[in-house]
Amino acid sequence: MPFRSGATLVAISDDVLIECLNLNPLVKESDVFLKFISGQHSAHFPFALAHRYGGHQFGYWSGQLGDGRAAILGTFLNSHGDIWELNLKGSGLTPFSRQGDGRAVLRSSVREFLASEAMHFLGVPTSRALSLVISEDAVLRDEFYTGNLRAERGAMVVRVAPSWFRIGSLEILAFHGEFQLLQSLMEYIIKHHYGNIDAENKDRYLMLFEEIVNGTAHLIAAWQSLGFTHGVCNTDNFSLLSLTIDYGPFGFLEEYNLEFVPNTSDDEGRYSYGKQPSVGYYNLDKLRVALDPILTYDQQETAKIILNGYYEILNRTLLQHFAEKLGLSPSPSAADASIVKMFLNLMQLTRSDFTMSFRQLAEARLDNLIKGDIHPSQWALMQLSSNHQFEIFLDNYRARLREIGLSDHDRMRKMRKTNPMYILRTWMAHSAIQLAEMNDFSEVRKLQRVLSSPFTKQAEAESAGYSSRPPPWASSLKVSCSS
Ligand code: AMP
Ligand code: MG
Ligand code: MG
Repeated sequence: MPFRSGATLVAISDDVLIECLNLNPLVKESDVFLKFISGQHSAHFPFALAHRYGGHQFGYWSGQLGDGRAAILGTFLNSHGDIWELNLKGSGLTPFSRQGDGRAVLRSSVREFLASEAMHFLGVPTSRALSLVISEDAVLRDEFYTGNLRAERGAMVVRVAPSWFRIGSLEILAFHGEFQLLQSLMEYIIKHHYGNIDAENKDRYLMLFEEIVNGTAHLIAAWQSLGFTHGVCNTDNFSLLSLTIDYGPFGFLEEYNLEFVPNTSDDEGRYSYGKQPSVGYYNLDKLRVALDPILTYDQQETAKIILNGYYEILNRTLLQHFAEKLGLSPSPSAADASIVKMFLNLMQLTRSDFTMSFRQLAEARLDNLIKGDIHPSQWALMQLSSNHQFEIFLDNYRARLREIGLSDHDRMRKMRKTNPMYILRTWMAHSAIQLAEMNDFSEVRKLQRVLSSPFTKQAEAESAGYSSRPPPWASSLKVSCSS
């Protein structure tokens, strides 16, 4: 269902266009392309599909959900042999829209567009975003504070991923006793997305389960290492390829706080930053239960053992991330682990900014810090140094760096490659959205540019304050599910 009042392309990812879809950048000028990315595909592309899935939402089985406002436009095989499924979000009613209108508003579309690309350039497995298209069509949404209906502007994002299948895609088949289809879907995923699994092996479903346990543990470790908090970790939002998908009320940690909850609709903090590891386990357990009907008794028991290995993989990977973030060995020893623990503890005690604590440590000479020579522009380090344990941390850190023979110069160089300077903070997205609502997309594009090189200091980002202390109004911003 296309927009009634036209469509305007306001942002595009050239990287997705060229690298994933092998298109010539000139296509951006073409009318057929604009029609395609704004859902007016019926003449040229009549095969849009909506996908049926279920899910456990906030701890309860919700029954059938499905793509209520997204359509799969088609599958593209690129010149590297990579598969990309094109998914248009916000394109209108589908058989799974339930009470919804099938639409997406500008603010959530801007956030999904920017976040998908930002996460990719941070090195996190994620769906990508090709395009952001807007129209004048009004979309009605509840106002967060008053509950009144407010007319907002509609938008569509073309998202691409190798597959959009989720844990909920298998759960719905298990719940409805459709075991033949459950098996077919498993075979399909193995054949198209897990070429390393022998399609003849009698344990292939178990092998796929093990891949997903492993992939999910790695994904969540990557999230934790960047302070990324998904916000809605329901099983319908957990990819069978262990990609970050369905960006809604997500957020990045500002002050280090395990209880950070980006989604105001999540009253109980079920999906807080600190709970993501256990939520990953919960979701994988739901996947395990869904697979039971197609496993033998012995395989079911083995699946439990595989799942038991989840925390070990996650904790090991997370420690590796944190050790690397401090310039220490990627195969950390107990000594490295204790340095990591001290630093995290210090961030927690001082509520210092997660991203900039690491980054400013990457920018500072340790000798200067030890002399207490911290410049006010190093605002996160100032915060850390407000606790006396800062000195103790520095002594231990320097001793450990001496032991492993890493010069301060090399430590800084290594750390700048693993600690981003720029992340998509809620206030940054909010500010860009406010301008976008007034038809000015310059800040959306600026964020897109800056976040495509998040580890590199950039003049336009610095003058926009993207690595500065967040403005005072940032802490009052709210993001909810209604989008
Ligand atoms: P989410 O919380 O965004 O992951 O969405 C959960 C489910 O609600 C999915 O099945 C969505 O497709 C569906 N949904 C969300 N918003 C809408 C909408 N505006 N219209 C129809 N379905 C929607
Ligand atoms: Mg979803
Ligand atoms: Mg959604």
